[in-house]
Amino acid sequence: MHPNDPKLRSFIDVDPSSDFPIQNLPYGVFFTPEQPDLRVGVAIGDFVLDLAALEAAGLIRFDNASGVFARPSLNAFMALGPAVWGRTRARISELLRHDHPELRDNIELRRRALVPRNFADMHMPIAVQGFTDFYSSKEHATNVGIMFRGKDNALMPNWLSIPIGYNGRASTVVVSGTPIRRPRGQLKPPTADVPVFGPCKRLDFELEMGVVIGQASAMGEMLTEQQAEEMIFGFTLLNDWSARDIQAWEYVPLGPFQAKAFGTSISPWIVTREALEPFRVHGPAQEPAPLPYLQQRGANNYDLHLEVDLLGAGTSQPVRISTTNSKLMYWSSVQQLVHQASNGCAIAVGDLLGSGTISGPEKHQRGSLLEISWNGSEPLEMPDGSKRSFLEDGDSLVMRGWCEGEGYRVGFGEVEGTIAPAR
Ligand code: MN
Repeated sequence: MHPNDPKLRSFIDVDPSSDFPIQNLPYGVFFTPEQPDLRVGVAIGDFVLDLAALEAAGLIRFDNASGVFARPSLNAFMALGPAVWGRTRARISELLRHDHPELRDNIELRRRALVPRNFADMHMPIAVQGFTDFYSSKEHATNVGIMFRGKDNALMPNWLSIPIGYNGRASTVVVSGTPIRRPRGQLKPPTADVPVFGPCKRLDFELEMGVVIGQASAMGEMLTEQQAEEMIFGFTLLNDWSARDIQAWEYVPLGPFQAKAFGTSISPWIVTREALEPFRVHGPAQEPAPLPYLQQRGANNYDLHLEVDLLGAGTSQPVRISTTNSKLMYWSSVQQLVHQASNGCAIAVGDLLGSGTISGPEKHQRGSLLEISWNGSEPLEMPDGSKRSFLEDGDSLVMRGWCEGEGYRVGFGEVEGTIAPAR
């Protein structure tokens, strides 16, 4: 049976509302208080399956590598390539099946290898080599353009031709749960004559998907759609924290710099490209047609539900502030990767690509506070009666996402971040 088969069942009970049925098997890196070595695991229901323990016990083997899962990141495993990714996922699926005895009936190994998820501390799943952030939602680019430049210059003339992006900072990509310190920077309110240096006053989030690259390309090499596809290991939720006041002053003419580089959060589980196969859909029609090197034949978007909750500082009731879908992205991840390599830029194992904020045409589908509060002119009403245009110290933001199968869901867990005051 294929590991995506909806009929598969595990000997571990998994609630239908869980993000982690046997059809998912996302990879992460974790440790426990009793065993603080970092190692790779997959999520299954309320458990983490310790793959380093299975490899040490000889239940998972690699032809020319060992200790692949007893590592602090997924990079060594990803470097082995898509054929190994597929074989390994099929083997893990087999070991977890209700009708397969190898692990099911090995009580001693089960005790060592199945860790309750609430005992596991999640670590950064990948060693990020390069971080690039794109700008793939037409609605988001239009909304931001209206606010920064006015209605007549909203969508820049290059936007429909180029998957616009910038190279961000790999050093400040952090795992869910890491506090985000309010940045300081140069601010120049429109009414001020000179800039000042101080804490950001317009701190925002951006709802994005992260694409995890598992194979390298050589400097000077272009990629086809097919090659780019096969280099993608998986996907994660990504919050591209943004300082709007720093951004507004610095972004001309070279684009975002300090406004984006102080923190980017990702969810701890990497959902494999293979697990998302059943949920492939075509993205929006691209008009005008992209240049030949960017044209794609395959359906390269995913029907992936996304939502954002804001828990205001000092409150106990989260507010749902955005509900959208990743299938609304105009430029696909494959097109972004093809474009990034098109000038000969080398792609590395462990590169991370942010999709860009995923907003939709409806108001409830806006993926940033800049859009939700329309640059502060339409503040959110919070349950305690306070108003929010941008994030306050102590505010906590949670993003979730999943694909809905028949009787199960392939989910991402969540990415959470709480704002700490500026130093
Ligand atoms: Mn972004």
